[in-house]
Amino acid sequence: MESKSKLIIKVNKLLIDKFGIPPRNKSLPNPVDMLIATILSQNTNDNNSYKAFKNLKEKYPTWEEAAKAKRSDIEIVIKVAGLGKQKSSAIKSFLTDIQKKHNNISLDYLKNYDEKSAINELINYSGIGVKTASCVLLFSMDRNICPVDTHVHRTVNRIGIVNAKTPDKTFLFLNETFPPKIAHSFHTNLIRLGREICKPKNPSCGICPLNKICKYEEKDLQIKKMHKKNDFMLLDNIKTKYSVK
Ligand code: SF4
Repeated sequence: MESKSKLIIKVNKLLIDKFGIPPRNKSLPNPVDMLIATILSQNTNDNNSYKAFKNLKEKYPTWEEAAKAKRSDIEIVIKVAGLGKQKSSAIKSFLTDIQKKHNNISLDYLKNYDEKSAINELINYSGIGVKTASCVLLFSMDRNICPVDTHVHRTVNRIGIVNAKTPDKTFLFLNETFPPKIAHSFHTNLIRLGREICKPKNPSCGICPLNKICKYEEKDLQIKKMHKKNDFMLLDNIKTKYSVK
């Protein structure tokens, strides 16, 4: 049987043939910005979470100012991203906890941690899950880690790269031995595949670049509908302009 790493490399190549190499930020964003942006992105689309992130940075130019704000005020500022109470609680408690623990609001101390230790450190903060932690590592620290959201979870299980019931288990299996240097393109193109072709219901297997290797039992090559292209990726658009100075 083909190894998981070889299969990931093959899938990555087929996705690049179809969608190209996904663009990414030229300079790495601030990891705290990335963490807050990822909290805001939960259960909403990238356009709304980007608006909420901009609102937050405009209202509180430094994270120290946001840490002093009332949770309810943060909730109002990020309203457009939905789940205001839950997201404002996670943001407020992360900012106050890190400030207490390190006397400043910076994740630069993680630079010397290996991937596993950095994830474990981040998920110790209340309200921070594995997905948020892994996005911080991939998008702002350039680590070769593949975060697992709902699209990545669904597609890698259908393709047969892993066999796991929850996104967190999928994350563990997928990242056990991830082939070097391709986590960003693999992750980003799988999200695009999930949004445009491999939808939760009636996936368009007839036009899928992976249909010859995919192991999904309900694969239906007659379905060929291409869904609306949506290639705005929030986490590749966190600009230095909004970074904490
Ligand atoms: S062949 Fe079908 S189920 Fe498999 S990845 Fe493509 S769209 Fe999804």
